[in-house]
Amino acid sequence: MDRINIHGVKIHNVTMQEAVETVLNWVSGDSIHAVYTPNAEIIMQAQRNPELKNILNEAGLLIPDGAGVILGSKILKTPLKEKVPGIDLVKNLLKASAGKNIGFYILGGKPGVAEMAAVNIMSEFGKVNIRGYAHGYFAPEEENALIENINKQKPDILLVALGVPKQEFWIHQNMYRLNCKVCIGVGGSIDIFAGTATLAPEFMRKAGLEWLFRLIREPRRYKRMMDLPRFILLTLKKRFSRKK
Ligand code: UDP
Repeated sequence: MDRINIHGVKIHNVTMQEAVETVLNWVSGDSIHAVYTPNAEIIMQAQRNPELKNILNEAGLLIPDGAGVILGSKILKTPLKEKVPGIDLVKNLLKASAGKNIGFYILGGKPGVAEMAAVNIMSEFGKVNIRGYAHGYFAPEEENALIENINKQKPDILLVALGVPKQEFWIHQNMYRLNCKVCIGVGGSIDIFAGTATLAPEFMRKAGLEWLFRLIREPRRYKRMMDLPRFILLTLKKRFSRKK
């Protein structure tokens, strides 16, 4: 798969359909793969955290999540094919897995959230095989039991919602002992499935304004969200310093 380097994060140049096919191929394979969903904020976090950058680049699939990444790729004259939001990838995987023997496990969120997400997923997508769930506030000494529980259920796809960068580090550190085929860092998507957070309306998502919706809903995130204009500035700086 072709990769586009955006400030050192090598994003796969895939369409939604290609991303879904890739994950489903891995489900029928033998080894384990990580999928992360970098947006502009995560790319900026990776500038400050080289370990996060390495972990992202070692993933089997890095999808371009968000309008900022697409805009950045265009400014750098290496356009990505399309936006592949993590939540939509998960929804498409759930749709494709309904009625099939593809097992999911949901890890993360506050106590009760993963369970609510599982219930809502089953009512929206029909016969999805959710083999288990657990909240994301476990103590280090509880981790072995948690992994044992996940492995007992033998999920094909493990959805991990511990927030960025915790979920990327957690997947990276535990992949070798997880009995599943694909681990996906899904972050706040779990709250959308659970109904404890709301997805931006379609017209805002189409206009690339999902960040504005989130800022209005969660103004406390404004500091983190300053990474979006920082990302655009860094991208413009790179583009014009290249021209000289
Ligand atoms: N979360 C968790 N354990 C933690 C920290 C966060 O389960 O130790 C959950 C949190 O409850 C939320 C999800 O991770 O459901 C994503 O958090 P947030 O929206 O802050 O992260 P983002 O996806 O924006 O990085």
